[in-house]
Amino acid sequence: MTAYQHHLIDGRWTPAQSADRTRVFDSASEAELGHVAHGTDAEIGLAVQAAKNAFASWSALPVSARADFVRGIANQLEEHVDSLARGIAAEVGMPLKLSQRIQVQAPILAWRATADLAADCLADARVGNSTITHVPVGVVGAITPWNYPLHQITGKVAAALVAGCTVVLKPSELAPCTARALGEAALAAGLPNGVLNIVLGDAATGQALVDHPDVALLSFTGSTAVGRRIAASAGQALKRVALELGGKSACIATADAPAENVVRQVIGSCFLNSGQSCNSLTRLLVPVERYDTYRALLADAVTRLTLGDPMDSATRMGPLVSAAHRDRVHAVIAESQSQGFDLIAGGSQAPVPATGYYIAPTIFGRVPPQSTLAQQEVFGPVLSVITYETEQQAIEIANGTAYGLAGAVWAADVDHALRLALQLRAGQVDVNGAPYNPAAPFGGFGDSGLGREGGTYGIEEFVEVRAIQMPVASTKEKS
Ligand code: NAD
Repeated sequence: MTAYQHHLIDGRWTPAQSADRTRVFDSASEAELGHVAHGTDAEIGLAVQAAKNAFASWSALPVSARADFVRGIANQLEEHVDSLARGIAAEVGMPLKLSQRIQVQAPILAWRATADLAADCLADARVGNSTITHVPVGVVGAITPWNYPLHQITGKVAAALVAGCTVVLKPSELAPCTARALGEAALAAGLPNGVLNIVLGDAATGQALVDHPDVALLSFTGSTAVGRRIAASAGQALKRVALELGGKSACIATADAPAENVVRQVIGSCFLNSGQSCNSLTRLLVPVERYDTYRALLADAVTRLTLGDPMDSATRMGPLVSAAHRDRVHAVIAESQSQGFDLIAGGSQAPVPATGYYIAPTIFGRVPPQSTLAQQEVFGPVLSVITYETEQQAIEIANGTAYGLAGAVWAADVDHALRLALQLRAGQVDVNGAPYNPAAPFGGFGDSGLGREGGTYGIEEFVEVRAIQMPVASTKEKS
């Protein structure tokens, strides 16, 4: 059992003041892994003060020096790939091999990529007689969820640090091992005191960070409901916000799309991390006349998603993060079954391991586009197949939720697919199974959030733009 009872404040691990804590469980064995302290308002206050004190000297460093510290943190994290992957697999439920690659190695690459992009991204620019300079916003409050814990911390902290900001991070109370490792990595890399502070805690700790008057920008990833609350509170204080929220992303398969490829991508996306990904393709839109073909292919493909212990190399899909989350997803599935949708696979009665927070991969067919299942994020392994008659209708269905995070289009002709992709109101759209690009901006329209993470766009979130006008010698004076 690990006790996460220390906050990183001003370069020191500081014992938590409150006895309140959240218990963390292994998602497969249900054994208690440890518990996480709840940071108090006073501890948030100390951390913000430390970040404020460190801001002047950190923001004055050359970009190249800040980038070197960020590379140093990446090097330190790299020493712990295996233990981090195991920790995240246990906490979140992603199979170990995937956890290693997606949850740990990819974020480490992102720390390095952010460092490499910083100089060009933050360089001065000229517009007529103006020089455009980039000024770090100040103290950043970063609040992150549990599903890709290191990835989400990286999108905020690495970008904020190279931009010249100092940070107070409040990581998820359900997946604490990464935050501890990051704190150790920052200390080992010699990051100056107060530049990165980590206060563990729950919603109340996050709220104290949101409400602190000396936080200049709140960068939040999590649920739309909490994002809305944070935006409202930040609006009162005129703080900047960056919000990465939920999604209900659609994949459109046109009549001539290669059905096997479509199914491979959608199964891979929807059930990755047991469906606990904000950008999962959770709606598959198929022409009504091809429904039976897709139904058969999906029913077959899902049988290969071996459900089991994340530490077992045969496992393709692990459990969900917690008993409470499992129960919530289970209720959505039971409710959808009672609506009489075509149950293609899984369902609330499907067998799952007796211990662990498992849900069988579940696929519903002929789901009405306006139904709750087709409109609301489930955040579990549930795919909705929706039929359409015309491509115009497919676009309307794809754009017909409150969200707009991701999407995908498939057609025999790539230009045809691109024409449809350009009509999707979503922050990321994949054409014909194109691979994920970590340097591309990531973020959403509508209820999926505000702002972007990743690549240069992600760094720009953390700077104010200042235009300095220089006098222009007039023609008259010259003559
Ligand atoms: P959550 O909103 O419950 O919690 C996220 C974080 O916010 C946690 O650290 C939590 O302690 C904190 N928090 C909760 N209430 C708060 C409050 N009132 N004030 C301040 N902080 C508060 O979300 P979750 O359950 O951890 O994560 C799942 C959600 O995150 C899903 O909706 C998912 O779509 C979304 N998500 C979005 C992205 C994206 O990039 N768009 C990525 C991953 C997850």
